[in-house]
Amino acid sequence: MLSLEQAQAAIRDRITRASRTQTVALDAAVGRTLARAPFAVVDNPAFDNSAMDGYAYNAADLARTHGTLPVQGESSCGSVPAVLTPGTTMRIFTGAPLPTGADAIAIQEVVQVQGGVAAFPSQVKTEDFIRRRGEDFRSGEALYPIGRRITPMDIALLAAAGVSQVEVFAKPTVLVVATGDELVPPGTPLQAGQIYESNRAATIAQLRQLGAEVVDGGIVKDNPTTLHSVLAGAVNYDFVITSGGASVGDHDVVKQVFAQLGSIEFWRVKIKPGKPLAFGRVGDKTHFFALPGNPVSSLVTFKLFVEPALKAWHHGVWAWLELTATVENDFRRTPGRMEFLRGRLRTEDGRLYAQALPGQGSHMLGTLRLTNALIKIGEESLGFKAGDTVTVVPMTLDVS
Ligand code: AMP
Ligand code: MG
Repeated sequence: MLSLEQAQAAIRDRITRASRTQTVALDAAVGRTLARAPFAVVDNPAFDNSAMDGYAYNAADLARTHGTLPVQGESSCGSVPAVLTPGTTMRIFTGAPLPTGADAIAIQEVVQVQGGVAAFPSQVKTEDFIRRRGEDFRSGEALYPIGRRITPMDIALLAAAGVSQVEVFAKPTVLVVATGDELVPPGTPLQAGQIYESNRAATIAQLRQLGAEVVDGGIVKDNPTTLHSVLAGAVNYDFVITSGGASVGDHDVVKQVFAQLGSIEFWRVKIKPGKPLAFGRVGDKTHFFALPGNPVSSLVTFKLFVEPALKAWHHGVWAWLELTATVENDFRRTPGRMEFLRGRLRTEDGRLYAQALPGQGSHMLGTLRLTNALIKIGEESLGFKAGDTVTVVPMTLDVS
């Protein structure tokens, strides 16, 4: 059985990376991944300008005139850079061009203006208030590497750099199927023995958030012939993700069907929750994941395996943030598998605390209401005691 790291590495090594690209306007770029580095069209700042409302002057002039200068002219936002008349000061506003000849700005709060003459204090702080051309980035500079997933913050930088469109990878196509004779979509009354399907619904939601083009393959009975026909077109997708039936029970038909369609790379990982999990390939473009049926296992394995696989497919570098926190309760366990507990992180006086939540069964979704992190427990660990330091993975932070 593979360890978490071995399984993740096996997936990374076997990903066929995206090749199709498309050009999208900036307002459609969030969540997409760059296929070509965008270059700055302009310097930022584009010209020397003022960081404050105040008075622009030449420091040597001010020294000669013992701290007073007549006010002449004004530089406002959007105006063409003016020329400072020697021996004068110019009114200037935040973002307005620094006039030629000026090398200093005093903020308006410290300058007294009377009868058109500005009196400056003897000690003026100046250079801080000039934003120099190109001090942020330069025209022609590559702003991001290939594989960067565009965030709303990136839109600010790209727009400021004059980039109006970007080349991104075409969205991966993903077929999502839930297997199980007991599953019914919410909205339908339940018959005896049935339950509402939740894994496929959550998988689709997560995939869409990660910028995938999802095809909902619906709920399929635990019947190899039916499943085979639903998955017959698997080669047309970049990814196929199934839920349930990946174990070794009589009705666990997923592995069997994947073995007929393609090749299974591995099907068990030494983690809890989520041990029965298969990964493999169909043809030369399709990657498949058979995720476990238990709802929490499905969510955790998506985060541990599918998310990094999508990232690798997009030429990205996958990373997650691991923090250490003081744990607030005890947890005992049998060693053997790496374990991820649903936990709640909080800060108090600048220190991080984690609580292992009650209700850790992999069928228990109610616990998710409070979950904002996973507590990661090493294979050999016997658990922890309140006050111990534990490793936590926040659920909502992507640091790559
Ligand atoms: P399986 O992996 O198919 O043996 O399923 C393990 C457990 O997860 C069983 O209790 C199933 O009823 C449940 N389960 C399987 N698939 C789903 C699903 N898509 N939504 C909700 N529960 C599921
Ligand atoms: Mg099942």
